[in-house]
Amino acid sequence: MFFGVIIIPARSVLDTIGETMDSEAPRLGIFICTCDELLNKKLKINDLEEYSKSLKNVEYARALNCISDDGQKIISEAISQNKLDRVVIAPAPEDKKIEKAVLNAGVSPHFIEYANIREQAAWVHSNIDDATSKAKLLIAMAAAKMRGSKAVAGSEGANVNTQTCSGCGICTITCKYNAIEFIEDGAHRVANVNHDLCEKCGACVAACPSGSMNMSGFSNEAIISEIEECTQGLLESKEPFPRIVIFACSWCSYPAADAAGEKHIELDPSFCLIKTPCSARVDPEWVMKTLSNGADGVLVLGGKEGHCHYRGGNVRTNNRMNLLSKVIESLGYDRRRIGVDWVNPEEPELFAEIVKNFVAHIREIGPNPERGIPLEEQPTSALHHE
Ligand code: SF4
Ligand code: SF4
Repeated sequence: MFFGVIIIPARSVLDTIGETMDSEAPRLGIFICTCDELLNKKLKINDLEEYSKSLKNVEYARALNCISDDGQKIISEAISQNKLDRVVIAPAPEDKKIEKAVLNAGVSPHFIEYANIREQAAWVHSNIDDATSKAKLLIAMAAAKMRGSKAVAGSEGANVNTQTCSGCGICTITCKYNAIEFIEDGAHRVANVNHDLCEKCGACVAACPSGSMNMSGFSNEAIISEIEECTQGLLESKEPFPRIVIFACSWCSYPAADAAGEKHIELDPSFCLIKTPCSARVDPEWVMKTLSNGADGVLVLGGKEGHCHYRGGNVRTNNRMNLLSKVIESLGYDRRRIGVDWVNPEEPELFAEIVKNFVAHIREIGPNPERGIPLEEQPTSALHHE
């Protein structure tokens, strides 16, 4: 059992978060759409509205029929009257009407996030309390992602902080699109991303040993905020057990999760899903952070071999996670707390099967040993002292 110190190497995306967060507090709005009659029966919508109002930096939250003309007008007015600069829409709408209203009201496309409370809560948890709790978690995670999001300097895709880049070249080896070259920056050479070639997979960002890379949409800050939300309070208690975090790629495993919802396949409510562009965007530090925050297991899900949208990002993920399992074992964790698996978008049943097996497997291993230890006896670590 591990009760020691987790030492995070010199490179730490976590270290830079305090410095890079926008100084002005974000102003968040949350709109919960009630146009679907069935959704209203499967979730306690009033609870969701009240809960949304209580979240940090939320200036306005309302459950309403977002696709009606009146609803659109209310959204526009709420954004302008409350000076909202980030918006969460739940569930993810099937048409672009709501998004258009939000954009027309002046919110940047970088600052709109969706909480899939339909496919990932109402449709997969038949117990209304479980479904409502999951929906709350999804809304809180989307809000956290928006709180942590910032428009990363530079263009869409990966960007390099030339102030901290050491010129080590790891990103150039990692990129399978030859999108990274070196340029001279004063006396030293630094990496530079050619955005005409960058496909926005994020593999290089996860590989950079000095935390000098970042990307809009899936910035380190945004994902860390989601992890914090999903693991909040776990260290203080062994309940609820288990809490599992699944990192799912936007091309294969995340759509498979939504497809499981569309098919109303019943799922265990003990997991939360964090979307990444490719499984290769999953930074080993995120996994370490998730475990040291008390999560009982971490599952990284990518597309099957030959199906990765990004020239074998899944192979890289497999190698990285295998290595990381060894590292966590050397730190005293059961290496089986990290899982890696593969599922394609058209395989919702397989997604459900993988989740079921992983949850069963974590139940067998038991709670993360760091959980439920009185605060004064908890290990000190770089992570705990952010
Ligand atoms: S991996 Fe990071 S530190 Fe190394 S060259 Fe690329 S951006 Fe610079
Ligand atoms: S995000 Fe992907 S495609 Fe873009 S530079 Fe990095 S590794 Fe290459």
